[in-house]
Amino acid sequence: MKTKRILSLILALTTLLCMAIIPTNAAEADTETHEHVEIIIENEDISAETKEKIMAFYSNGGEEQEGIATYGLTCTLLGHKLESSVVYKITHKVRTTSPRCLKKTYNYESCTRCDYEESTLASQKYIVCCS
Ligand SMILES: [Zn+2]
Ligand SMILES: [Zn+2]
Repeated sequence: MKTKRILSLILALTTLLCMAIIPTNAAEADTETHEHVEIIIENEDISAETKEKIMAFYSNGGEEQEGIATYGLTCTLLGHKLESSVVYKITHKVRTTSPRCLKKTYNYESCTRCDYEESTLASQKYIVCCS
């Protein structure tokens, strides 16, 4: 009877400890997000401006997004001038055990004349990367 009580006390303590540890880790992960995310643009032929847009888009957490219907006057008349690329976003050390890193593949396109941009998640998988 006594042993049981001690055991349950230990269990309760362990639970408390875990609960205390997890939120701290989560907060840490949040502040360090930028260091753990890697963005790879597959299409080298797109303009530097579009590359910049892609970097800004994915590092700000933007992921899937429907095309915004903001046509400039020129785009209304002529249609968008689109540039597109496959973009890989690797979030390192997502999991504690191997494979640890999450690789997401997006199809991205944006207009060089207006604010139109669209991103579709094509696939995602965990990869063996960080040890
Ligand atoms: Zn446009
Ligand atoms: Zn990694």
